[in-house]
Amino acid sequence: MNYQDFCGNESMLPTPYIRVVTKISKWEKYECIEINGFKFIYGSSIKNTESNLFEYKEIDNSSFFWALMTLYSKLSPDIFTHTQSAGNAAITDNDVKLILHFCKVHGLPFWNKKLDAAPFTNISNEEFFNDSSDKLDEMQKNILRSVIPYSQFNLFPISSLAVGLMSLRSDFLRIISYYGWENLINISLLLTPKDKKILSKMEYGSLQSSKHADINLYTPSLIGFTTQWDNQTLSLRLNCENLLHLSAYHLCLLMQSGTLGSGIIKTCPKCHKQFVANRRNQTFCHNPCTPQSFHMQKKRNNNSTERK
Ligand SMILES: [Zn+2]
Repeated sequence: MNYQDFCGNESMLPTPYIRVVTKISKWEKYECIEINGFKFIYGSSIKNTESNLFEYKEIDNSSFFWALMTLYSKLSPDIFTHTQSAGNAAITDNDVKLILHFCKVHGLPFWNKKLDAAPFTNISNEEFFNDSSDKLDEMQKNILRSVIPYSQFNLFPISSLAVGLMSLRSDFLRIISYYGWENLINISLLLTPKDKKILSKMEYGSLQSSKHADINLYTPSLIGFTTQWDNQTLSLRLNCENLLHLSAYHLCLLMQSGTLGSGIIKTCPKCHKQFVANRRNQTFCHNPCTPQSFHMQKKRNNNSTERK
């Protein structure tokens, strides 16, 4: 096939393999701290204060996404408000515990010390709109290149995470409604009473037959996805700024594929990650955890407490 043929038929353009990489900020220790009355989750390194625990990672499964959606279902409903002071006031000890647990397993969902930070890019609006153009230029360059913006910040305000989760959740509900997934077991277990109320008002499902159901996904259109050539791996890579950004990408996958995949989403008792179980009685993720390794670990823990 020659170049003319390519141009004549867009759909025949071969698509290169794209690696999706995400900036991951994972720390050894997480705690809840308060700054000016606002609750933050702060990650730190025990071993080496100099260490920079930000790295690009290819995340090859969607467990982080289901973990975020499960987290949403479990958090106090009152923290989900665009008025961050009200959201902050509603945060309970249990909310903090749940978010710390998420961070321990997956890393920080985003990071910035400012309350007006856009959770999908880590960048604060104030800096984006008010700062000198020099700084803005530099920041935009950093986003496009492999420099991790705000890597000096290893913390985030819980109330801002709540705002980001709200956006993700409304898109998620739009997709559920569009494909009529409300009663699938993986979905129905996640839905809160408020979700169900919102879903009952959505009418995408009934419009689905009329081909042009007007579905607007907010988060994927809010933030861009940039790709760049990576000389090291000789592949085109798509960069996600953080786990929330990757979640928006995941919503695109759900929307375009129209499938949740098969299997049941469960939580592994050993590594506490969400995974898709192919059999109803599968309890462990099998990658890397097995029932044997779980019981061995339990035995070791019991032995060490006995020795104390
Ligand atoms: Zn596991």
